[in-house]
Amino acid sequence: MTTQPLLVVENLQTHFPVRRGLLRRVSGSVQAVDGVSFSIAKRRTLGLVGESGCGKTTVGRSILRLVEPTGGDVRFAGASVRGMNARDLRALRRRMQIVFQDPYGSLNPRMTVRGILEEGLVIHRMGDARDRLARMRRALDRTGLTAATLERYPHEFSGGQRQRIAIARALVLEPEFLVLDEPISALDVSIQAQVVNLLVELREELGLTYLFISHDLSVVEYVSDDVAVMYLGRLVERADAAALYRAPLHPYTLALFSAVPTIDPARRRRRIVLTGDVPSPSRPPRGCRFHPRCPLAESVCREVDPPATTLDGHLVHCHVAARELERSAGDVRAAAASIAEAMAAASAKPASDAAAASGTLKA
Ligand code: SF4
Repeated sequence: MTTQPLLVVENLQTHFPVRRGLLRRVSGSVQAVDGVSFSIAKRRTLGLVGESGCGKTTVGRSILRLVEPTGGDVRFAGASVRGMNARDLRALRRRMQIVFQDPYGSLNPRMTVRGILEEGLVIHRMGDARDRLARMRRALDRTGLTAATLERYPHEFSGGQRQRIAIARALVLEPEFLVLDEPISALDVSIQAQVVNLLVELREELGLTYLFISHDLSVVEYVSDDVAVMYLGRLVERADAAALYRAPLHPYTLALFSAVPTIDPARRRRRIVLTGDVPSPSRPPRGCRFHPRCPLAESVCREVDPPATTLDGHLVHCHVAARELERSAGDVRAAAASIAEAMAAASAKPASDAAAASGTLKA
């Protein structure tokens, strides 16, 4: 398996201006994505997780320039996406496709499936009429639909079938990379597994590379090779999926994972309920963005943005995690166990005692 990165995202920023008053003057900005970096090797899947509003969907759309990034860079197969002119970007969009969350809103209700699938082929001038028909049939077949689908309208299908049509629309252009933006969260639970398995099969069969955006941690674990966790516009942790689920280091990741039901006693974690609301991305807290909700926050967390600490490909932005890794001489599992213990102790106490509980981690 090659490990050549197909996609490199470097310090990506996407800020949206906030306008106020009659003259709609810019009075600030919403920092939806603020300094996100990662890469995805060919044929690999990166799962991107976090609460609603953390910026994960904006990351996916910024990569394809469906929203314009305001800083950083995205490189696809070595070429800078941000530096591309309209013609190069159109050509690139054939190679990078997106499947949206809502299979009801993402398909034009006035077009037949033939029109929906053929539109991209015409825009990208792919093949003549006969060749386009063959491509459309092939894409439908790959997603488990028949050619009879072509002459029907989206409203004639169930949610799962519509999502298959949306996937076929992406596949018909023969892309190399797919952004899958919550592709199953609008579907009935009974058909979610079918669509997930279809995506996994297509990846193997066609050698695709995925950015899989979801808040469903169990599905992300099943689908992904690597997982990145976002909080308030930033990545807080990233690692190989198995390593991250086995030994999460960041307090926010621990809190997220503690909410996942499991029948495996070895992985059962004490539930950590975070208090407080997610701060506004237009006024993110200084220092660590998670500090107002973090049971382990210390004075340094309120002042200093935690830099990245990386060990064996496991990256974390947390002062306490960095210290625990140093103390455990690089034993990620030992560091993770000690942070989990302190989190469980801190979250079991009233807020005023939480800082004292985190003292179990101090020298
Ligand atoms: Fe952030 Fe500090 Fe909590 Fe780490 S311990 S997540 S740096 S507030």
